[in-house]
Amino acid sequence: MILFNDFKREYAAIGEEVSQSIKRVLKSGWYILGQEAEKFEEKFSKYIGTKFAIGLNSGSDALYLAVKALGISNGDEVVTVSNTMVSTVDAIIRNGARPVFADIEPETYTIDASKIKTKITAKTRAIIPVHLYGHAADMDPIIEISEKHNLFIIEDACQAHGAEYKNAKVGSVGYIGCFSFYPTKNLGAYGDGGMIVTNDEQLATKLRQMRNYGQSKKYYHDFVGVNSRLDEIQAAILRTKLRYLDDWNKRRRKLASLYNDLLKNTETITPIEKDYAKHVYHLYVIRHKHRNKLQQYLLSRGIQTLIHYPVPVHMQRAYKTIDKLPVTEKICNEILSLPLHPWLSENEVEVVSECIKEFSLNQR
Ligand SMILES: *Cc1c(COP(=O)(O)O)cnc(C)c1O
Repeated sequence: MILFNDFKREYAAIGEEVSQSIKRVLKSGWYILGQEAEKFEEKFSKYIGTKFAIGLNSGSDALYLAVKALGISNGDEVVTVSNTMVSTVDAIIRNGARPVFADIEPETYTIDASKIKTKITAKTRAIIPVHLYGHAADMDPIIEISEKHNLFIIEDACQAHGAEYKNAKVGSVGYIGCFSFYPTKNLGAYGDGGMIVTNDEQLATKLRQMRNYGQSKKYYHDFVGVNSRLDEIQAAILRTKLRYLDDWNKRRRKLASLYNDLLKNTETITPIEKDYAKHVYHLYVIRHKHRNKLQQYLLSRGIQTLIHYPVPVHMQRAYKTIDKLPVTEKICNEILSLPLHPWLSENEVEVVSECIKEFSLNQR
Protein backbone atom coordinates (compact mmCIF):
# COMPACT_ATOMS: atom_id res chain seq x y z
CA MET A 1 0.00 0.00 0.00
CA ILE A 2 1.29 3.47 -0.88
CA LEU A 3 -0.34 5.76 1.64
CA PHE A 4 -1.33 9.36 0.95
CA ASN A 5 0.34 10.40 4.21
CA ASP A 6 2.66 8.24 6.27
CA PHE A 7 3.13 9.64 9.76
CA LYS A 8 4.65 6.45 11.11
CA ARG A 9 7.66 7.06 8.86
CA GLU A 10 7.96 10.61 10.16
CA TYR A 11 7.80 9.40 13.72
CA ALA A 12 10.44 6.76 13.04
CA ALA A 13 12.75 9.51 11.75
CA ILE A 14 12.25 12.31 14.29
CA GLY A 15 10.22 10.63 17.06
CA GLU A 16 13.03 10.70 19.60
CA GLU A 17 13.50 14.44 19.23
CA VAL A 18 9.76 15.07 19.33
CA SER A 19 9.39 12.97 22.46
CA GLN A 20 12.16 14.97 24.13
CA SER A 21 10.35 18.23 23.40
CA ILE A 22 7.07 16.86 24.76
CA LYS A 23 8.82 15.62 27.90
CA ARG A 24 10.35 19.08 28.39
CA VAL A 25 6.84 20.58 28.48
CA LEU A 26 5.42 17.88 30.74
CA LYS A 27 8.22 18.47 33.25
CA SER A 28 7.82 22.25 33.14
CA GLY A 29 4.40 22.15 34.81
CA TRP A 30 3.12 24.90 32.46
CA TYR A 31 0.83 23.91 29.58
CA ILE A 32 -0.97 26.96 28.11
CA LEU A 33 0.52 30.32 27.02
CA GLY A 34 4.04 29.87 28.25
CA GLN A 35 7.61 29.97 26.96
CA GLU A 36 7.19 27.27 24.33
CA ALA A 37 4.43 29.12 22.48
CA GLU A 38 6.32 32.39 22.80
CA LYS A 39 9.54 30.91 21.43
CA PHE A 40 7.77 29.22 18.56
CA GLU A 41 5.91 32.43 17.67
CA GLU A 42 9.24 34.25 17.58
CA LYS A 43 10.89 31.58 15.40
CA PHE A 44 7.92 31.33 13.05
CA SER A 45 7.55 35.08 12.51
CA LYS A 46 11.28 35.28 11.80
CA TYR A 47 10.96 32.41 9.33
CA ILE A 48 8.02 33.99 7.49
CA GLY A 49 9.49 37.49 7.67
CA THR A 50 6.88 39.34 9.71
CA LYS A 51 7.23 41.23 12.98
CA PHE A 52 4.54 39.35 14.89
CA ALA A 53 3.04 35.88 15.13
CA ILE A 54 0.10 34.81 17.29
CA GLY A 55 -0.36 31.11 18.05
CA LEU A 56 -3.93 29.81 17.86
CA ASN A 57 -5.99 26.65 18.04
CA SER A 58 -6.28 26.03 14.29
CA GLY A 59 -6.04 27.50 10.83
CA SER A 60 -9.82 27.89 10.85
CA ASP A 61 -9.56 30.05 13.95
CA ALA A 62 -6.72 32.03 12.35
CA LEU A 63 -8.98 32.92 9.42
CA TYR A 64 -12.00 33.58 11.64
CA LEU A 65 -10.08 35.82 14.04
CA ALA A 66 -8.31 37.62 11.20
CA VAL A 67 -11.66 38.64 9.72
CA LYS A 68 -13.01 39.52 13.18
CA ALA A 69 -9.96 41.58 14.21
CA LEU A 70 -10.39 43.74 11.10
CA GLY A 71 -13.93 44.54 12.23
CA ILE A 72 -15.53 42.87 9.22
CA SER A 73 -19.12 41.91 10.06
CA ASN A 74 -22.79 42.23 9.06
CA GLY A 75 -23.32 43.83 5.68
CA ASP A 76 -19.68 43.54 4.63
CA GLU A 77 -18.41 41.51 1.70
CA VAL A 78 -15.16 39.59 1.30
CA VAL A 79 -13.90 38.31 -2.06
CA THR A 80 -12.39 34.83 -2.06
CA VAL A 81 -12.41 31.53 -3.98
CA SER A 82 -14.72 28.53 -3.98
CA ASN A 83 -11.98 26.02 -4.81
CA THR A 84 -10.70 25.81 -1.24
CA MET A 85 -11.30 24.19 2.10
CA VAL A 86 -14.59 25.40 3.61
CA SER A 87 -12.75 27.13 6.48
CA THR A 88 -11.72 30.00 4.20
CA VAL A 89 -15.36 30.75 3.54
CA ASP A 90 -16.93 30.03 6.90
CA ALA A 91 -14.48 32.45 8.54
CA ILE A 92 -16.34 35.14 6.58
CA ILE A 93 -19.85 33.81 7.22
CA ARG A 94 -19.33 33.23 10.95
CA ASN A 95 -18.47 36.92 11.23
CA GLY A 96 -21.79 37.82 9.62
CA ALA A 97 -20.21 38.96 6.35
CA ARG A 98 -20.93 37.64 2.85
CA PRO A 99 -18.41 35.66 0.79
CA VAL A 100 -18.22 36.74 -2.86
CA PHE A 101 -16.57 34.18 -5.11
CA ALA A 102 -14.08 34.94 -7.88
CA ASP A 103 -13.08 32.18 -10.27
CA ILE A 104 -9.58 30.68 -10.38
CA GLU A 105 -6.76 30.53 -12.92
CA PRO A 106 -6.80 27.27 -14.88
CA GLU A 107 -3.03 26.79 -14.48
CA THR A 108 -2.40 27.41 -10.79
CA TYR A 109 -5.95 26.89 -9.45
CA THR A 110 -5.53 30.06 -7.33
CA ILE A 111 -7.66 33.23 -7.50
CA ASP A 112 -7.78 34.90 -10.90
CA ALA A 113 -7.05 38.56 -10.19
CA SER A 114 -8.71 39.64 -13.43
CA LYS A 115 -11.98 38.18 -12.10
CA ILE A 116 -11.85 40.14 -8.85
CA LYS A 117 -12.59 43.61 -10.26
CA THR A 118 -16.21 42.93 -11.19
CA LYS A 119 -16.83 41.49 -7.72
CA ILE A 120 -15.89 44.70 -5.86
CA THR A 121 -18.80 46.75 -4.46
CA ALA A 122 -19.10 49.55 -1.92
CA LYS A 123 -19.48 46.81 0.71
CA THR A 124 -16.24 44.96 -0.08
CA ARG A 125 -13.77 45.09 2.81
CA ALA A 126 -11.20 42.41 2.10
CA ILE A 127 -9.80 39.83 -0.30
CA ILE A 128 -8.73 36.35 0.85
CA PRO A 129 -6.44 34.73 -1.72
CA VAL A 130 -5.66 31.07 -0.96
CA HIS A 131 -2.17 29.79 -1.77
CA LEU A 132 -3.66 26.49 -2.76
CA TYR A 133 -1.69 23.22 -2.90
CA GLY A 134 1.48 25.16 -1.93
CA HIS A 135 1.54 27.53 -4.93
CA ALA A 136 1.28 31.27 -4.32
CA ALA A 137 -1.58 33.26 -5.78
CA ASP A 138 -0.43 36.08 -8.08
CA MET A 139 -0.30 38.81 -5.43
CA ASP A 140 0.81 41.98 -7.30
CA PRO A 141 -2.46 42.51 -9.22
CA ILE A 142 -4.39 41.70 -6.03
CA ILE A 143 -2.37 44.27 -4.08
CA GLU A 144 -3.07 46.81 -6.82
CA ILE A 145 -6.83 46.21 -6.53
CA SER A 146 -6.68 46.34 -2.73
CA GLU A 147 -4.87 49.67 -2.79
CA LYS A 148 -7.27 51.16 -5.29
CA HIS A 149 -10.35 50.15 -3.28
CA ASN A 150 -8.83 50.35 0.20
CA LEU A 151 -9.25 46.64 1.01
CA PHE A 152 -7.41 44.36 3.43
CA ILE A 153 -5.61 41.29 2.11
CA ILE A 154 -5.82 38.21 4.32
CA GLU A 155 -3.64 35.42 2.93
CA ASP A 156 -4.86 31.88 3.49
CA ALA A 157 -1.43 30.27 3.67
CA CYS A 158 -2.69 27.12 5.39
CA GLN A 159 -1.28 24.96 2.58
CA ALA A 160 1.85 26.97 1.92
CA HIS A 161 4.39 27.03 4.79
CA GLY A 162 7.63 28.20 3.18
CA ALA A 163 6.13 28.89 -0.25
CA GLU A 164 7.30 32.12 -1.87
CA TYR A 165 5.91 34.91 -4.00
CA LYS A 166 8.71 36.87 -5.71
CA ASN A 167 11.19 35.75 -3.04
CA ALA A 168 8.97 36.74 -0.10
CA LYS A 169 7.42 34.01 2.02
CA VAL A 170 3.65 33.85 1.60
CA GLY A 171 1.85 35.11 4.68
CA SER A 172 4.15 38.15 4.72
CA VAL A 173 2.83 39.67 1.49
CA GLY A 174 -0.67 40.77 2.56
CA TYR A 175 -1.85 42.52 5.70
CA ILE A 176 -2.46 39.29 7.64
CA GLY A 177 -1.25 35.74 6.97
CA CYS A 178 -3.08 32.67 8.29
CA PHE A 179 -1.47 29.26 8.84
CA SER A 180 -2.72 25.85 9.95
CA PHE A 181 -0.61 23.22 11.71
CA TYR A 182 -3.05 20.38 11.10
CA PRO A 183 -0.94 17.18 11.03
CA THR A 184 -0.99 16.77 7.23
CA LYS A 185 0.26 20.29 6.46
CA ASN A 186 3.86 20.93 5.41
CA LEU A 187 4.50 21.99 9.01
CA GLY A 188 2.12 19.95 11.14
CA ALA A 189 1.55 19.50 14.87
CA TYR A 190 0.57 16.22 16.53
CA GLY A 191 -2.89 17.67 17.04
CA ASP A 192 -4.51 20.98 16.08
CA GLY A 193 -2.77 24.33 15.80
CA GLY A 194 -2.74 27.58 13.85
CA MET A 195 -1.01 30.95 13.55
CA ILE A 196 -1.61 34.50 12.40
CA VAL A 197 1.32 36.59 11.20
CA THR A 198 1.30 40.36 10.66
CA ASN A 199 3.48 43.48 10.83
CA ASP A 200 0.76 45.53 12.56
CA GLU A 201 1.59 45.75 16.27
CA GLN A 202 -1.84 46.99 17.35
CA LEU A 203 -3.53 44.19 15.48
CA ALA A 204 -1.15 41.65 17.04
CA THR A 205 -1.99 42.94 20.52
CA LYS A 206 -5.69 42.78 19.79
CA LEU A 207 -5.38 39.20 18.52
CA ARG A 208 -3.44 38.13 21.61
CA GLN A 209 -6.30 39.46 23.68
CA MET A 210 -8.94 37.94 21.41
CA ARG A 211 -7.53 34.42 21.65
CA ASN A 212 -7.68 34.69 25.45
CA TYR A 213 -11.31 35.74 26.19
CA GLY A 214 -10.63 39.38 25.38
CA GLN A 215 -8.54 39.74 28.53
CA SER A 216 -6.16 42.69 28.87
CA LYS A 217 -5.02 41.18 32.15
CA LYS A 218 -6.27 38.22 34.11
CA TYR A 219 -10.03 38.54 34.78
CA TYR A 220 -10.30 41.95 33.06
CA HIS A 221 -12.16 41.67 29.74
CA ASP A 222 -12.11 44.61 27.32
CA PHE A 223 -14.23 42.88 24.69
CA VAL A 224 -15.79 39.48 23.99
CA GLY A 225 -13.08 37.10 22.83
CA VAL A 226 -12.69 33.35 22.39
CA ASN A 227 -10.54 30.53 23.70
CA SER A 228 -8.10 29.80 20.88
CA ARG A 229 -4.51 29.17 21.90
CA LEU A 230 -1.66 27.08 20.60
CA ASP A 231 -0.86 24.83 23.56
CA GLU A 232 2.67 24.35 24.91
CA ILE A 233 3.06 20.73 23.80
CA GLN A 234 2.09 21.48 20.18
CA ALA A 235 4.29 24.61 20.18
CA ALA A 236 7.28 22.57 21.39
CA ILE A 237 6.70 19.93 18.71
CA LEU A 238 6.33 22.60 16.04
CA ARG A 239 9.53 24.39 17.08
CA THR A 240 11.37 21.10 16.73
CA LYS A 241 9.81 20.40 13.34
CA LEU A 242 10.32 23.95 11.98
CA ARG A 243 14.07 23.17 11.78
CA TYR A 244 13.30 20.56 9.12
CA LEU A 245 10.69 22.47 7.12
CA ASP A 246 13.06 23.74 4.41
CA ASP A 247 14.58 20.26 3.92
CA TRP A 248 11.16 18.68 3.75
CA ASN A 249 9.94 21.26 1.23
CA LYS A 250 13.08 20.60 -0.83
CA ARG A 251 12.28 16.89 -0.75
CA ARG A 252 8.68 17.57 -1.84
CA ARG A 253 9.94 19.69 -4.75
CA LYS A 254 12.36 16.95 -5.82
CA LEU A 255 9.66 14.27 -5.81
CA ALA A 256 7.25 16.60 -7.64
CA SER A 257 9.80 17.18 -10.34
CA LEU A 258 10.28 13.40 -10.66
CA TYR A 259 6.51 12.95 -11.05
CA ASN A 260 6.49 15.74 -13.68
CA ASP A 261 9.13 13.87 -15.72
CA LEU A 262 7.58 10.43 -15.38
CA LEU A 263 4.04 11.59 -16.18
CA LYS A 264 4.94 13.12 -19.55
CA ASN A 265 2.88 11.67 -22.39
CA THR A 266 0.27 10.10 -20.11
CA GLU A 267 -2.66 12.42 -20.88
CA THR A 268 -2.10 13.87 -17.44
CA ILE A 269 -1.96 17.59 -16.76
CA THR A 270 0.80 18.03 -14.19
CA PRO A 271 1.16 21.04 -11.87
CA ILE A 272 3.13 24.07 -12.97
CA GLU A 273 5.27 26.57 -11.09
CA LYS A 274 4.95 30.17 -12.23
CA ASP A 275 8.06 32.38 -12.48
CA TYR A 276 6.87 34.40 -9.51
CA ALA A 277 6.33 31.37 -7.29
CA LYS A 278 8.26 28.86 -5.26
CA HIS A 279 5.93 25.88 -5.01
CA VAL A 280 6.13 23.77 -1.83
CA TYR A 281 3.79 21.02 -3.09
CA HIS A 282 1.60 20.63 -0.05
CA LEU A 283 -0.37 18.60 -2.57
CA TYR A 284 0.69 17.21 -5.93
CA VAL A 285 -2.48 17.69 -7.95
CA ILE A 286 -2.84 16.36 -11.48
CA ARG A 287 -5.79 16.59 -13.87
CA HIS A 288 -7.10 13.68 -15.90
CA LYS A 289 -10.26 13.47 -17.96
CA HIS A 290 -11.04 10.00 -16.58
CA ARG A 291 -10.34 11.05 -13.01
CA ASN A 292 -12.81 8.80 -11.17
CA LYS A 293 -11.79 5.70 -13.10
CA LEU A 294 -8.11 6.54 -12.59
CA GLN A 295 -8.64 6.92 -8.86
CA GLN A 296 -10.36 3.51 -8.74
CA TYR A 297 -7.58 1.93 -10.78
CA LEU A 298 -4.87 3.33 -8.52
CA LEU A 299 -6.72 2.12 -5.44
CA SER A 300 -6.98 -1.37 -6.94
CA ARG A 301 -3.18 -1.25 -7.26
CA GLY A 302 -2.79 -0.24 -3.60
CA ILE A 303 -2.27 3.49 -4.18
CA GLN A 304 -4.21 5.93 -2.02
CA THR A 305 -5.23 9.24 -3.61
CA LEU A 306 -7.55 12.08 -2.56
CA ILE A 307 -9.50 14.90 -4.22
CA HIS A 308 -9.02 18.49 -3.06
CA TYR A 309 -11.85 19.26 -3.41
CA PRO A 310 -14.62 17.23 -5.07
CA VAL A 311 -17.38 19.80 -4.44
CA PRO A 312 -16.53 23.53 -4.57
CA VAL A 313 -17.74 25.51 -1.56
CA HIS A 314 -20.39 27.44 -3.53
CA MET A 315 -21.98 24.10 -4.51
CA GLN A 316 -22.07 22.68 -0.97
CA ARG A 317 -25.47 22.37 0.70
CA ALA A 318 -24.33 24.53 3.62
CA TYR A 319 -22.84 27.32 1.49
CA LYS A 320 -24.83 27.22 -1.76
CA THR A 321 -24.82 30.35 -3.92
CA ILE A 322 -25.93 31.04 -7.48
CA ASP A 323 -22.42 31.94 -8.64
CA LYS A 324 -21.23 30.59 -11.97
CA LEU A 325 -17.54 29.74 -11.75
CA PRO A 326 -16.67 27.85 -14.95
CA VAL A 327 -13.03 26.98 -14.19
CA THR A 328 -13.77 25.93 -10.62
CA GLU A 329 -16.74 23.83 -11.72
CA LYS A 330 -14.76 22.16 -14.50
CA ILE A 331 -11.57 21.25 -12.68
CA CYS A 332 -13.29 19.75 -9.62
CA ASN A 333 -14.19 16.78 -11.85
CA GLU A 334 -10.63 16.35 -13.12
CA ILE A 335 -8.28 16.98 -10.20
CA LEU A 336 -6.59 14.19 -8.29
CA SER A 337 -4.02 14.50 -5.51
CA LEU A 338 -1.28 11.86 -5.72
CA PRO A 339 0.74 10.69 -2.73
CA LEU A 340 3.49 13.23 -1.97
CA HIS A 341 5.19 13.72 1.37
CA PRO A 342 8.82 13.96 2.52
CA TRP A 343 8.92 10.26 3.47
CA LEU A 344 7.81 8.95 0.08
CA SER A 345 10.59 7.18 -1.84
CA GLU A 346 11.64 7.77 -5.45
CA ASN A 347 10.70 4.17 -6.09
CA GLU A 348 7.14 4.80 -4.87
CA VAL A 349 6.83 7.81 -7.18
CA GLU A 350 7.95 5.53 -10.01
CA VAL A 351 5.36 2.89 -9.08
CA VAL A 352 2.53 5.45 -8.98
CA SER A 353 3.63 6.98 -12.30
CA GLU A 354 3.91 3.56 -13.93
CA CYS A 355 0.33 2.73 -12.88
CA ILE A 356 -0.93 5.99 -14.36
CA LYS A 357 0.91 5.16 -17.59
CA GLU A 358 -0.73 1.72 -17.71
CA PHE A 359 -4.15 3.23 -17.08
CA SER A 360 -3.73 5.79 -19.85
CA LEU A 361 -2.68 3.09 -22.33
CA ASN A 362 -5.73 0.98 -21.43
CA GLN A 363 -7.99 3.98 -22.04
CA ARG A 364 -6.89 4.35 -25.65
C1 LIG B 1 -6.20 23.23 6.41
C2 LIG B 1 -6.79 24.45 5.84
C3 LIG B 1 -7.52 25.36 6.62
C4 LIG B 1 -7.95 25.10 8.04
O1 LIG B 1 -6.99 24.72 8.93
P1 LIG B 1 -7.39 23.87 10.24
O2 LIG B 1 -6.15 24.00 11.07
O3 LIG B 1 -7.65 22.48 9.80
O4 LIG B 1 -8.56 24.51 10.88
C5 LIG B 1 -7.95 26.53 6.01
N1 LIG B 1 -7.71 26.78 4.72
C6 LIG B 1 -7.03 25.92 3.94
C7 LIG B 1 -6.81 26.27 2.51
C8 LIG B 1 -6.56 24.73 4.47
O5 LIG B 1 -5.93 23.85 3.68
